[in-house]
Amino acid sequence: MLEIEGLHAGYGDVRVLHDVTLRVDEGEIVSIVGANGAGKTTLIRAVMGTLPTTSGSVRFLGERLTGRQSHEIARLGLAQVMEGRRLFPHMTVEDNLLIGGDILRDTARQRRNLGWVYEMFPRLRERRTQLARSFSGGEQQMLAIARALMTGPKLLLLDEPSIGLAPVMVKEIFSRFPGINAEGVTILLVEQDVRRSLSLSRRGYVIEQGRVVLEGDRDFLLGNEEVKRAYLGV
Ligand code: ATP
Repeated sequence: MLEIEGLHAGYGDVRVLHDVTLRVDEGEIVSIVGANGAGKTTLIRAVMGTLPTTSGSVRFLGERLTGRQSHEIARLGLAQVMEGRRLFPHMTVEDNLLIGGDILRDTARQRRNLGWVYEMFPRLRERRTQLARSFSGGEQQMLAIARALMTGPKLLLLDEPSIGLAPVMVKEIFSRFPGINAEGVTILLVEQDVRRSLSLSRRGYVIEQGRVVLEGDRDFLLGNEEVKRAYLGV
């Protein structure tokens, strides 16, 4: 579904990603984990085409993403939840959701997707007239995820959904991913919370200083001595 091959990218003369190769297959939950500054956000920018790549390729369902407008990427079936959430605090929950679906420019589909999202997140339906700013950090993250789902994506890309949240909220949010996945949404999770994200993934990649240093299925990575020592505090 998503194929990244030999990707190099950076900012001006600063090279951040070196020869990154990874893939996400349809139906999977895959994690990309690494410490602060490892290059995770840069990788997402390169995937979404907002950062030009020096060499290598990114393909989603066989199509190149580089240089495409965000609405084209959304129509191809790729949605992203950025770090920082970027909600409209003075708008209601429902308006935030509808804005998420606006990019489709298809009102009927937008309405259908709203119903689908409300089925997955009944709390959002109950609170649809509340302003987004009245939500706690964790609830806002949930709303940001729901908003991304408003485009009915095939692949949902999440950039550090745990950031800045209390552990109980992180747990609550991560507990939703298998259900979203079961609705036919493939998930790529980019995280610093290595244990939690690997635990619910089928496979994962560890990146350090812009390179993939380790990859494998969940049990292999969670049992790996290097991973345990560097990321799991074992
Ligand atoms: P974090 O968890 O802090 O978001 P990350 O793994 O997402 O970390 P990146 O944000 O991709 O890491 O940063 C990787 C490297 O790229 C860092 O060394 C960072 O200083 C550098 N970098 C990030 N953004 C820029 C920029 N706009 N200009 C120059 N260098 C940058």
